[in-house]
Amino acid sequence: MSMNGKTAVVTGSNSGIGLGVARELARAGADLVINSFTDRDEDHALAAELGKEFGVAVRYIQADLSKAEEARALIEKAGVCDILVNNAGIQHVAPIDEFPLEKWDAIIAINMSSAFHTTAAALPMMRKAGWGRVVNIASAHGLTASPYKSAYVAAKHGVVGLTKVTALETAQEPITCNAICPGYVLTPLVEAQIPDTMKKYGMERDEVIKKVMLERQPSKEFATVEQIGGTTVFLCSDAAAQITGTTISVDGGWTAL
Ligand code: NAD
Repeated sequence: MSMNGKTAVVTGSNSGIGLGVARELARAGADLVINSFTDRDEDHALAAELGKEFGVAVRYIQADLSKAEEARALIEKAGVCDILVNNAGIQHVAPIDEFPLEKWDAIIAINMSSAFHTTAAALPMMRKAGWGRVVNIASAHGLTASPYKSAYVAAKHGVVGLTKVTALETAQEPITCNAICPGYVLTPLVEAQIPDTMKKYGMERDEVIKKVMLERQPSKEFATVEQIGGTTVFLCSDAAAQITGTTISVDGGWTAL
């Protein structure tokens, strides 16, 4: 489906899944607003490169999504938001009784509350345009739990709940809201953990990936950023117009276990 004439705002999109999603939306013809909390020359250069590669308009807008007012300002500055992809997220791993308060607050703010603020700011724009799609990048951890990931699991379950409420509040309008729940995705962040994990377990790369990192992913394959992007494009298509308030797992069977 062509998304010519639509503008997509993708949060946390200067790397990883967000960038992969932005690329697939641009490939489908959407203009883009990409975002992160940094304001480096390379962030703006990335926007220019994407625009050139796909022949669409791409703007980079800096916003620190740990702050409510900046999350809302991102959408206001975008000015138009037909497709909103809430993707920005961070992780911290520690037992509950040792979990640093500032990490809990940051994860809840960035991974969950920012999606509330951007959605609140974007819905009036979607209503005015008479069409809208909200795609929340949750996680297999929005449906299941792992020890030591209290803030992340709480935030991602929260995002799944917010997805359902947004869908119900827009059910009689041409607006949908769904969550994608990826399993382990090979992003630069995950790639960077491989050498250390190889050392820690004294294993080769393939063994570390299959036995340690993908222990809970029955396919024993990473999901790719292109697959998450393709799923987003599908959720924005006419075929998905009656899909709302649900989760789509892209997790190699993780949540079937
Ligand atoms: P990543 O670190 O490559 O990307 C995270 C993005 O969020 C980056 O662009 C970063 O700049 C941005 N970001 C972080 N803090 C921000 C802030 N305060 N304000 C604005 N932007 C901020 O990680 P990723 O693996 O691509 O993760 C993207 C999303 O996918 C996250 O929500 C993550 O929880 C989710 N996810 C990832 C995996 C995986 O295996 N990689 C699996 C399931 C879900």
